Amino acid sequence: MQKIPIFDLKPEIELLWGELTETIHDVLRSGRFILGPNAESFEQEAARYLGVRHAIGVNSGTDALIIGLQALGVGPGDEVITTPFTFFATAEAIERVGATPVFVDIEPDSLQLDPRQIEMKISSRTKAILPVHLYGRPAEMDPILSLARTYDLKVIEDAAQAFGSEYQGKKAGALGDVGCYSFFPSKNLGAFGDGGMIVTNDDDIAEYCRFLRQHGSRKKYFNEAVGYNSRLDELQAAVLRVKLRHIEEWNQGRIGVAETYRKLLRGQSGVVCLDEKNTGDHRHVYHQFTVRILQGRRDEVQERMRRAGIETMIYYPIPLHLLPMYQELGYELPQAEAAAREVLSLPIWPQMTEQVQLRVVQGLRVALDSM
Ligand SMILES: *Cc1c(COP(=O)(O)O)cnc(C)c1O
Repeated sequence: MQKIPIFDLKPEIELLWGELTETIHDVLRSGRFILGPNAESFEQEAARYLGVRHAIGVNSGTDALIIGLQALGVGPGDEVITTPFTFFATAEAIERVGATPVFVDIEPDSLQLDPRQIEMKISSRTKAILPVHLYGRPAEMDPILSLARTYDLKVIEDAAQAFGSEYQGKKAGALGDVGCYSFFPSKNLGAFGDGGMIVTNDDDIAEYCRFLRQHGSRKKYFNEAVGYNSRLDELQAAVLRVKLRHIEEWNQGRIGVAETYRKLLRGQSGVVCLDEKNTGDHRHVYHQFTVRILQGRRDEVQERMRRAGIETMIYYPIPLHLLPMYQELGYELPQAEAAAREVLSLPIWPQMTEQVQLRVVQGLRVALDSM
């Protein structure tokens, strides 16, 4: 029996093989590899797609967060409110600019930052709120933006998993002061290496991000500040330009796969699908399709599925506040802790067939029923 991976890039690469190899050859022939015409065009095309004034290509999603935070003036002594239920890069970027992450618990149904718990964590040092659009599902942005206005805070969105996701008809990442994307190969829009992007509607912030990514210089060799070497290279930009033309169709494919999973899992005891009361405010683009496995059976279910040839993942097994470096702060965030014990992400990719999904669900059923 063929193994089922957590995601499969082969179908999209095969589909675009001709276009991709052609554009890669064009870059090789051009002899320009950093900040050339592809990077520039990709920035414009992505900005148009996302509905923002500026897009700035950088080395990675992590760098997008670091440079974005710095461009917003976040630095030593500042606090940034964020979720503990995310990839470490979210908190790492806050630390990297010298600020302190302040963790707020998540909502149990969506696993997104809980806006009702933010206000009590706002202090005189709070500078920004950093929601993460986890799994491709937009965070609850309305109350977050409204708190930011009330307390004069910046909003920087971690949209690394949410390219094309929407909240009230606007693209996730385009709602706050700055939005950050990752083009790590496994993301919804993935390059063939590392890549990332910052978006903003603010001309000054955009200009400052461009300045920072290029060693703190506006003019070559006239460096004015300590910046970064963080640029999206021509090969990645060329690949991303080809893929960007298909992102709508692929995200739609993911949404279809998720609907099928929900249908197949309906009534199955011991499993809870997330976000069952979606209000229509959210266009979830399912970077992951994640369920909760109840009664402490998650790890055993994962192991049984693995033995049946079905790969699943746990995003994330340790909420950030329980990492050794934060443990002594004594955070208790019960929703994030419960989620870390129960979540299981099932295989998903845009071209996944119902037949393969049936095997995944069958594997999950057998694992649960035999316990
Ligand atoms: C992938 C990811 C990042 C980091 O992106 P890189 O491109 O790998 O640096 C940051 N935040 C979240 C939520 C991510 O999933």
